[in-house]
Amino acid sequence: MIRTDVPLERSGATGGWRAPHCRFCGARLSKLVVDLGMSPPCERYLEAGQLDEMEPFYPLRVHVCERCLLVQLQEYVPPEEIFTEYAYFSSYSTSWVEHARRYCELMVERLGLGSGSLVVELASNDGYLLSHLVRSGIPVLGIEPARNVATAAIDQGVPTLTEFFGVELAERLVAEGRRADLLVANNVLAQVPDLNDFVAGMRVLLAAGGVATVEFPHLARLFEGNQFDTIYHEHFSYFSLLTAQRVFARGGMVVFDVEELPTHGGSLRLYLRHFEDASKPVRPSVRVLLAREAEQGLDRLDGYLSFGQRVEATKRKLLGFLIQAREEGRRTVGYGAPGKGNTLLNYCGIRTDLLDFTVDRNPYKQGRFLPGTHVPIRHPSALAATRPDYVLILPWNLKDEIVAQLAEVRSWGGRFVVPIPEVAVL
Ligand SMILES: [Zn+2]
Repeated sequence: MIRTDVPLERSGATGGWRAPHCRFCGARLSKLVVDLGMSPPCERYLEAGQLDEMEPFYPLRVHVCERCLLVQLQEYVPPEEIFTEYAYFSSYSTSWVEHARRYCELMVERLGLGSGSLVVELASNDGYLLSHLVRSGIPVLGIEPARNVATAAIDQGVPTLTEFFGVELAERLVAEGRRADLLVANNVLAQVPDLNDFVAGMRVLLAAGGVATVEFPHLARLFEGNQFDTIYHEHFSYFSLLTAQRVFARGGMVVFDVEELPTHGGSLRLYLRHFEDASKPVRPSVRVLLAREAEQGLDRLDGYLSFGQRVEATKRKLLGFLIQAREEGRRTVGYGAPGKGNTLLNYCGIRTDLLDFTVDRNPYKQGRFLPGTHVPIRHPSALAATRPDYVLILPWNLKDEIVAQLAEVRSWGGRFVVPIPEVAVL
């Protein structure tokens, strides 16, 4: 995909190769945070008939911008290829649905939402969040580019547009008389290729006096928790509060409150308003969190440059564990088939020689194979049928929920293993 909004440079030796540039400020990117090698798109689950076909692999090379400090991947995979059929149905995660329900209750109360309001969610997935508001009689609109999950949302009564969001769509909605009193953008900002257009569109669609909330995994926690497996091609950008604040400020919006959440290994929820809306003063939470990020070194370039060595050490420890288990004749299988598992397994080179199979509750994934590593995905009942010695929990952020659900594994002496922040037997 050729980008025309940043100046392009050509290297004489490699012909068409273009030096990467910051998707926010346009500066040339030269500082590497971590190089996870080549991986296939992490949601590209394979059917049996595809196993002998060639698979596309793209680099997972993370840069930090020297000028604005935005941590980012280059855009290697065209967004249309990623998002037209998306395998992640939010409704399959019990804790995520509960998180959405609590959020809706909180916002209805905090903003006084009712039958005259409009709530718009960007990247509304299968309607797991908006359906709570539909049941309360609050008008909603979902915007979701992945057709298969959008269809699931419409089927359960959540009006949903199957389109990419930006200024163009926002202006069309406003022309139809639709503005959002609450604009929700959960776990989408990282996945936006044209960040400035997306944020500008949010400003357009937000009603005067309205509130936008934005959730994303917090870069500070990614570094602290060594969560390198949350880096994948679909996530172009990795935000601190500092960089998010800069991006929204350029788009004419102000972060007036921030909360820390346990979701996805540690996320932030930002509350945003129009720059001109003086009715919502900036709360102390913003200043406090910016100060903590500065203590962690996230306000200067050298705070970003030691992460890669920790990632390499984690790979050696996980491989050491799996090799030893195999040599002792123990059987290890996976639990879950999340995108983050695919980054981990591809980066570490873990295939069926070290992990027999994995299981997942999502019927879309059952019977398919993990991209790159070709580890088969089975129904969770395969655990009881095979009684493995170790169950490697790939969505480690949900480990408490999973260990509770799978209590029977203990009955045959099976143990749970998490790979991140470093390999540990539970
Ligand atoms: Zn930049």
